[in-house]
Amino acid sequence: MSTENNTPVVSNFIRSIIDEDLASGKHAAIVTRFPPEPNGYLHVGHAKSICLNFGLADDYHGHCHLRMDDTNPEKESDEYVRSIQDSIRWLGYQWDGNVRYASDYFDALYGYAVALIQAGHAYVCELTPEEMREYRGSLTEPGRDSPYRNRSVAENLDQFSRMKDGEFPDGSKTLRLKIDMASGNVNLRDPVIYRIRRVHHHRTGDKWCIYPMYDYTHCISDALEGITHSLCTLEFEDHRPLYDWVLDHIDVPCHPRQYEFSRLEMLSTLTSKRKLNALVTEGLVSGWDDPRMPTIEGMRRRGYSPAGIRLFAQRIGISKSVNIIDMSVLEGAVRESLEAEAPRIMAVLNPIKVTLTNFAEGVSASRSAPYHPHHEEFGERDVPIAREIWIERDDFAEVPPKGWQRLTPGGEVRLRYSYVIKCDEVVKDAAGEVVELKCSIDHDTLGKNPEGRKVKGVVHWVSASHAVEAEVRLYDRLFTEPRPDAVRGEDGEYVDFRQFLNANSLTVTTGYLEAAALDAPAETRYQFERLGYFVADRFDHQPGKKAVFNRAVGLRDTWSK
Ligand code: ATP
Ligand code: MG
Repeated sequence: MSTENNTPVVSNFIRSIIDEDLASGKHAAIVTRFPPEPNGYLHVGHAKSICLNFGLADDYHGHCHLRMDDTNPEKESDEYVRSIQDSIRWLGYQWDGNVRYASDYFDALYGYAVALIQAGHAYVCELTPEEMREYRGSLTEPGRDSPYRNRSVAENLDQFSRMKDGEFPDGSKTLRLKIDMASGNVNLRDPVIYRIRRVHHHRTGDKWCIYPMYDYTHCISDALEGITHSLCTLEFEDHRPLYDWVLDHIDVPCHPRQYEFSRLEMLSTLTSKRKLNALVTEGLVSGWDDPRMPTIEGMRRRGYSPAGIRLFAQRIGISKSVNIIDMSVLEGAVRESLEAEAPRIMAVLNPIKVTLTNFAEGVSASRSAPYHPHHEEFGERDVPIAREIWIERDDFAEVPPKGWQRLTPGGEVRLRYSYVIKCDEVVKDAAGEVVELKCSIDHDTLGKNPEGRKVKGVVHWVSASHAVEAEVRLYDRLFTEPRPDAVRGEDGEYVDFRQFLNANSLTVTTGYLEAAALDAPAETRYQFERLGYFVADRFDHQPGKKAVFNRAVGLRDTWSK
């Protein structure tokens, strides 16, 4: 069940099917599943599927299983299994019962394979992979029957049992379903359901040297778990006849129905585990949880909130049409959720020193300010003022453009939650660079308007002696191309997506923050007023010792301009 998930429900074709199935009494309750292969970290595309499957179970008071689809032992590991669980929980969901594994069903799957052989529906084939390809035919030509197709049941049983016992070398034999080599759907041309592969499995160890194939495993796992609606992405549409064929030819407790929806693709990033894996293993990012990565762990470290990601998933919806989404939609949802969730403080990231020449100890007062204008319960803190303060370099212009409302020589501006100040003198270094502003406080402006004039501009600031220094990481798009893996060169071939990595996707700077930020626990999200949403880095921020903040997202969408 999800916690704190209060995003409004938007209907889609899958919900309509479920509504019908519940109304007709076909199902009393729904059971969905999320079936990741533990061969990488989950990404934003998986988040879509998680929000769909777990979200449906929540809304309809059903159940959602988490099942590791671990049939490819070479690429799978416990590290991935752990991170998958973390990511799902972090998104606010909890699976029903224990984590399930396709490998839990290896014995059952073997039993069903034997039953299929006994019923004359499966045979052991010895075609090499090349021959197999040749026999398979093409989209326009039917395939040909394997010379091994008509072995006797007894011979097949003997061969299959010896495959399991490790009598044959890797890849030398397969178990295939006997369906139809002339089928218009290549998935039904006697698909392989078992292959010989001597690899250590992260859970079953060396017990097996034969492993079942995905299509065969998936439908049976669904049936054994009593899944009612098996939701997957559109590339499995052509596999559905096979899903149904297998379940129609064995004795399973139920026959789940598969429904397909379009996969999420996002611009300026990648949603392929294989390519994300390449970025990690080649050191092109700092890891799966690099805040620039579209992984759930990356988004978490970046400062996105679970509610923001769920809101995004709800906004993009579920359908069968192409689902290519601009990053600004994700950022918009994150921004919207953080707007209400994040306390606000002041931070100066590109500082210029301001000396308040008439600051007087005991006279120049500090004020207390709420952490959020609409959430009293967030509390208040003191915003201390001192003789020296930092303001943002951008908030001063020696030669102001038209309509400028911030600081300029001789001009006035209000310090947020504090006094109106006037810039009396601009101090420059030998190179002519502005290094300091000498300003005076109008002591009669704390919590009230100045007499006889209007001061429109308000700037954020921090007291130099009270502020804490922080490492602040500013992130930008990971790729400069909207579709980094879909660009073709003059030769018509795909250009390597690595070429489009944004060299400026990370800027590290030193900023000055209100002191509370140093003591904040890791992963605290703030709005830095006028700058954006930031998070105390999950790993590098050390409360009370070292402040490290990541920019999650700016306050408005500047990318599209
Ligand atoms: P990849 O191609 O990146 O390796 P995958 O589909 O092989 O992804 P799985 O671990 O098998 O990854 O995915 C688990 C579930 O998440 C599947 O049901 C799959 O359909 C769904 N899923 C994966 N990628 C996306 C996506 N981009 N959009 C929506 N759902 C997705
Ligand atoms: Mg997959």
